Amino acid sequence: MTDALKTFLTDLDLDIRAQGDWGQVADYIPELGRIDPAQFGIAVALPGGGMVSAGQARQRFSIQSVSKVFSLACVLGRIGEQIWTRVGREPSGQRFDSILALEHENGRPRNPFINAGALVTTDELLTGRAPKETLAEILGFLRAAAEDDDIHIDKAVARSEAATGHRNAALAHYLKSCDNLRNPPEITLGTYVHQCAIEMTCEQLARAGRVIAQLPGAPRMLTPLKARRISALMMMCGHYDGSGDFAFRVGLPAKSGVGGGILLIAPGQASIAIWSPGLDGYGNSRMGSHAAERLAHHMGWSVFG
Ligand code: GLU
Repeated sequence: MTDALKTFLTDLDLDIRAQGDWGQVADYIPELGRIDPAQFGIAVALPGGGMVSAGQARQRFSIQSVSKVFSLACVLGRIGEQIWTRVGREPSGQRFDSILALEHENGRPRNPFINAGALVTTDELLTGRAPKETLAEILGFLRAAAEDDDIHIDKAVARSEAATGHRNAALAHYLKSCDNLRNPPEITLGTYVHQCAIEMTCEQLARAGRVIAQLPGAPRMLTPLKARRISALMMMCGHYDGSGDFAFRVGLPAKSGVGGGILLIAPGQASIAIWSPGLDGYGNSRMGSHAAERLAHHMGWSVFG
């Protein structure tokens, strides 16, 4: 199967480069705005430790919101179900950085993957710990899951987002005004932008995702129930207001980030990471979504049977 998959991924890489419909990079974070959108990488981690990849699968990129999956995993490990008193688990149907629903719903964000919800998750992780220790916990989870210590934070990206992230600052202050932020907004925001600025390669991210896909041979860091719940949230909320369309087209749980990364989970079968930094109108990787659809159809991977 790995030879056939390698051929498929190599052809997919060529097709995508020939198509050249890359989308726009996320220039609201100036450091990400300088990246060439015409890039693509894909890596598939398989049961038993196999890895098949193509394109720029060993190039580091900013994982941005894909980090929210792992901060949620850390919080679930720490306080479990109690997190749901502070954040919901419903799709938002709104942009990733929207403030609209927050006022209607008294400062309890719809889910942990929109920015407001991720700020709450990070704020919870900061309980009793300094920002440095909190970031070390998230990095530690990723490194252990990927079985690779060479995973770091790109400080230039963090600084760039901190300097221009006025919407996230507004969200954090609004959460604080509703008593749903325990730390000073600057502390939670500072930790959040550093978490988002973690950089990884597709191969590292695919390996880290094995703990959610519960692949045989992967480190046992999540109970099956937690992995199922994280996957359910990825399916319903992982692509913001484009989540329904992504589920319709691809049929697998996934989480996107504005750095152009997508972590895609085929439970028990594969953990896939895709990167292409040009985004569509929802802020999701344009060519990454296309590749996810092609791969899932080709392999017959779908949680809908
Ligand atoms: N750091 C980004 C932000 O808060 C994450 C958004 C994303 O990747 O979707 O705007």
